[in-house]
Amino acid sequence: MWAMIGTWRMALEAIDQVVKSDECKKDAGSAIVKAIKQIEDFEYFKSVGYGGLPNEDMDVELDAGYMNGDTLAFGAIMAVRDIKNPIEVAYALSKEYTSCLLASAGASRFARNHGFQQKDMLSPRAKLHYLKRMKEERQVELKPYIGHDTVGICALDEKGSLCAGTSTSGLFMKKAGRVGDSPILGSGYYADSDYGCCSATGLGEDLMKGCISFQVVELLKQGIPVQEACSQALQALHDRLLRKQGKVGDLSIVALDKNGNFGVATNIDNFSFVYASKTQAPTVYLVKKQNGKMELEVASQQWLNDYLTTRMAAIEL
Ligand code: ASP
Repeated sequence: MWAMIGTWRMALEAIDQVVKSDECKKDAGSAIVKAIKQIEDFEYFKSVGYGGLPNEDMDVELDAGYMNGDTLAFGAIMAVRDIKNPIEVAYALSKEYTSCLLASAGASRFARNHGFQQKDMLSPRAKLHYLKRMKEERQVELKPYIGHDTVGICALDEKGSLCAGTSTSGLFMKKAGRVGDSPILGSGYYADSDYGCCSATGLGEDLMKGCISFQVVELLKQGIPVQEACSQALQALHDRLLRKQGKVGDLSIVALDKNGNFGVATNIDNFSFVYASKTQAPTVYLVKKQNGKMELEVASQQWLNDYLTTRMAAIEL
């Protein structure tokens, strides 16, 4: 069996591509890197890689993480500027035993020294978004999902290896140096080939409070089925945050068990994800929460087209 799951509809073309090239079947890790790289390069996705929205100083600061579930090796970079494909750097760092999580200038230096491509990551379009937002309101409360979705991909290959990776520009208008859950091991992503893997998207500050990806893999370790593990972990974190801080940010997760079955959970109404496996062509699902249960609906062609049209529409200043 092989399988792949990615957060948001934006993962569709990339997952489709690696499925066609048989990459996922052969090597979960390189399939993840290839897929995320493609998403990072597509400038119309304004929350990942080139085209990602900038922080309050108009600087694009990117985060990425990667974990190999066979060895538990991980690599991650955070608040890094001017690096074309953060996921490649995270992957390279997972080959190190120490200094696997690098921040800002140190991460850039590692990337440069290892020959990773540099690029000014502020696209003209992202700059327009920034200028528009500055015009609309000087001070806005940070809210995820107004253009902030992390791509998180989990994969299982035919050798039985499970891996997970993330890439994001984080919250639009975040403070300089702000880092969310995406490069943080156990929060944005976690993988253990003996049990499963998980990745998260949403308000990083709240996702980190539950170490949600690690939590899901722990539940899988206890033998809980993957869908139940996701629902249980997410609901528990949601309830705990509500009780302790009186509010909860957006939380969404995707996961695979060691047999390639998927689980998903969210506390929002517009979460989407992509799943593909040996027995299923890449499919985009829309998730709705109904009476505490996750209801899945296959996205219509119209919905898929509208998604891209909206992303690619002209920006009026
Ligand atoms: N989790 C990301 C962050 O907090 C944002 C997102 O996934 O929407 O940086």
